[in-house]
Amino acid sequence: MLQDKELKALKESLSTPKKITIVSHRNPDGDAIGSSLGLLHFLNKLNHKVHFISPNEYPDFLAWMPDVDKTIIFEKDTEFATTILKESDFIFTLDFNALHRTGELMEKTLQTLTVPMIMIDHHQAPDPYPLYTFSDTNYGSTCEMIYDFINALDFNNLIDINSARSLYTGIVTDSGSFRFPKTTAKTHICVADLISKGVNNSEIHNLLFDNASYSRLQLLGKALQNLTLLTDFKASYIFLSQDDLDNYNYKKGDTEGIVNYGLNIKGINITAIFIENKEEGIIKISFRSQGNVDVNQFARKYFNGGGHINAAGGKSFLSLEETIKQFIAILAEENKK
Ligand code: 5GP
Ligand code: MN
Repeated sequence: MLQDKELKALKESLSTPKKITIVSHRNPDGDAIGSSLGLLHFLNKLNHKVHFISPNEYPDFLAWMPDVDKTIIFEKDTEFATTILKESDFIFTLDFNALHRTGELMEKTLQTLTVPMIMIDHHQAPDPYPLYTFSDTNYGSTCEMIYDFINALDFNNLIDINSARSLYTGIVTDSGSFRFPKTTAKTHICVADLISKGVNNSEIHNLLFDNASYSRLQLLGKALQNLTLLTDFKASYIFLSQDDLDNYNYKKGDTEGIVNYGLNIKGINITAIFIENKEEGIIKISFRSQGNVDVNQFARKYFNGGGHINAAGGKSFLSLEETIKQFIAILAEENKK
């Protein structure tokens, strides 16, 4: 948690209306959008002027979230978003640990600002850019951190239904529906409180997971056909080419969660999904692992990325085929050690 004197200063500052901007990382997921909207609705209750800026579009499966349609997309409305950022009294940066996670374009703008920033995030190795940093890798989600942050300010009663639904969403998505190891008794107490504030848990699970298009399921089918085992290395991987995405009418968010299937197989403790993105000229990679296999280090060292011990991401500038070859060669090398 933030230090007592930081909380005190913030509370004092929040006692009169302010212009506050909330920023999430590029390609925002349920936790990025959930924590941003969870904080936004809470700050609205305190009568602040609050904007949420996402570097790029949010995925379709989150389109139902309260006021997500008011999100300012930096890469679309760059000029307007820049003005909002510059005029802010302070900026919350949520669910990321380094400004480059907002993408090249937005990073440049954020670097020029003199507005004080507050980071709330659960990734390793936070950069020192903020005035205040609440960074803790013991949390399974930034949403749970926002909940604790609001409680630390003694404002639990200002968590309205919109805020509660948003926070619940990020906790569910980042914990793999409460199954990943960082789901604690405290997580369940937080969720119990959100439900007591009116969150309909089955409704949200339905909105998130029973709302897919037919083509998304077909894309999942294709991904599972492409699932390859590397039994010698206790590894597996999935790939989706740009053609695969085009054939199944890919929309942002359609590949969310597919990487986890690679770990469903007995004896596999590291997996990856490689997704070709012709427009950006990169292969986007997600890694997942079990136990003490550290994919954060793996993604940092070899694939321009990072994340958490058991869930990380990165990118490659090689072709899809070359990237997969490189992945296999690295595993072979690492297994010799
Ligand atoms: P996902 O695979 O779901 O996109 O991301 C898993 C985790 O790795 C997330 O916590 C995310 O923030 C982090 N991550 C994903 N892609 C990148 C990346 O390119 N760079 C870094 N530093 N972290 C990433
Ligand atoms: Mn997160």
